[in-house]
Amino acid sequence: MPEDCLFCRIVSGSIPATKVHEDAETLAFLDIHPQARTHVLVIPKAHVGSVLDLPAGSPVMARLTEVACRLAREGKIAESGFRLAVNTGTDGGQTVGHLHLHLLGGRRMTWPPG
Ligand code: 5GP
Ligand code: ZN
Repeated sequence: MPEDCLFCRIVSGSIPATKVHEDAETLAFLDIHPQARTHVLVIPKAHVGSVLDLPAGSPVMARLTEVACRLAREGKIAESGFRLAVNTGTDGGQTVGHLHLHLLGGRRMTWPPG
């Protein structure tokens, strides 16, 4: 685990977070600066810098998506719609270097994003 990785520290429990799902490989918690009524981050527990670091055929994105869809259904936002986003690199707006899937819902999203 990279000592200086914020989300690895959330996984280890050294930084608190409001967890909404946890299993052996995946953790989901509320974003500290929510951009919508529902704003959850879904991450692999094992450190992965970004989607660019996933090997071909990796099941990680499928797992994160499955958890996000389950949370969307449980949070009653699946029917009205929601957004899944993976910011990657500087131009993509990634600010934390540990792969995370944003689940955003509870308001009408706009397109294109900023
Ligand atoms: P990114 O900008 O990399 O796509 O997303 C990083 C997200 O992590 C941001 O939405 C930001 O609000 C969130 N974040 C940053 N620091 C913390 C923290 O300490 N705890 C939680 N729960 N979220 C954080
Ligand atoms: Zn990490």
